[in-house]
Amino acid sequence: MSIDFLIVGQGLAGSLLAWELILRGYKIVVIDNGKESASQVAAGVINPVTGMRLVKSADVDVLLPVAKQCYLQLSYFFQQDFYVEKPMIRLFSSDSEFKQAQKRLNQSSYYGYFGDIYPSPKKFDAWVSPYGFVEQKQTGYLLTRPLLNCLKTFFIGHGCYQSAKFQAKDVQLMPVLRWKDITPKQIIFCEGFQATQNPWFSWLPFQPVKGEILTLMMHQSQLPDHIINYGNWLIPLQGNLFRIGATFDHKTLDNLPTKQGKSALLTALHAALSPPPPFTLTGHQANVRPCTLDKQPFIGSHPHYPQLAIFNGFGAKGSLQIPYYSQHFADSLSRGLPMPSSIQRHYATHFIG
Ligand SMILES: Cc1cc2nc3c(=O)[nH]c(=O)nc-3n(C[C@H](O)[C@H](O)[C@H](O)COP(=O)(O)OP(=O)(O)OC[C@H]3O[C@@H](n4cnc5c(N)ncnc54)[C@H](O)[C@@H]3O)c2cc1C
Repeated sequence: MSIDFLIVGQGLAGSLLAWELILRGYKIVVIDNGKESASQVAAGVINPVTGMRLVKSADVDVLLPVAKQCYLQLSYFFQQDFYVEKPMIRLFSSDSEFKQAQKRLNQSSYYGYFGDIYPSPKKFDAWVSPYGFVEQKQTGYLLTRPLLNCLKTFFIGHGCYQSAKFQAKDVQLMPVLRWKDITPKQIIFCEGFQATQNPWFSWLPFQPVKGEILTLMMHQSQLPDHIINYGNWLIPLQGNLFRIGATFDHKTLDNLPTKQGKSALLTALHAALSPPPPFTLTGHQANVRPCTLDKQPFIGSHPHYPQLAIFNGFGAKGSLQIPYYSQHFADSLSRGLPMPSSIQRHYATHFIG
């Protein structure tokens, strides 16, 4: 079977890129090995202003409108909501954070990202906030798992999905690119952190980070109508369910939930919510974020094999970044436009041939 693109991996990156290529009339096939992906585990939070210095994410003014539009378009198509816009309460952990937020509120480039700011001793419900808090706007979360399920069903319905593990031994590079009985013009790898094992792209400077998340069912109490950011975050879902996360572990790169991860998340919740309402733990998941050394995605072709490309490295910000980059990568593939965040920046420093 002759196709334009074989896409390896049906996480958020592979799925949205496949969607954009289909919209542009290309014949594609997506394959996935069926392992639980980072996208399925992710909380999907979009938070434009982060860190102790409350800094706006790079290019958020460009990325956020594209992400919202993309998820809205997918909602119309699948008749289901995927992006939940919800303001965030950011509890300050020090007086300097409070002062930094006050400064940001007066900076024109941050207009629209903040609501009211409250100094100590004002409290937000039962949350411990000795230094006050601020309301953040333009925050929310993506329901990634339902979105990926809809896209998978769509791909299957269009005969362009295969459940399969991609292995390099099944590839013929010359004279014609071939994977099993498929002859694509190009293979695009969207393997998340598993790209660190990819024989053609493992030279790229990945810095994968494991994360764990808990799902809790709260008893008696009403959930807040905000995402709460207390160093970790709490996201109210539907019913009495909420999720808390996430841990950061640079050393153990597997998808196994740990006692230490669970304990760290529950300890932080108990310190921030006084007293925490009774709850039952209903879920505990772990996976690995495909982070990169320079915190920029990895997009583009292999230096020696232009028929092989990568679309990866979205770190902890896939929900915000992937819509924009999948549209631009699809445009670049179809019209030969230059690609932002191209891996060419690493050819000289990391590729040894
Ligand atoms: C705990 C945690 C919390 C997170 N929270 C957030 C958040 O709040 N907001 C946010 O924006 N991002 C968050 N992220 C990051 C987010 O998950 C990623 O940015 C994004 O999902 C990466 O998508 P991806 O498609 O590149 O990778 P993945 O989702 O990992 O998808 C890769 C896919 O490729 C498949 N695959 C790999 N190798 C092969 C092969 N050889 N053959 C076939 N298939 C293969 C995998 O099985 C998988 O299905 C979080 C991540 C974690 C782990």
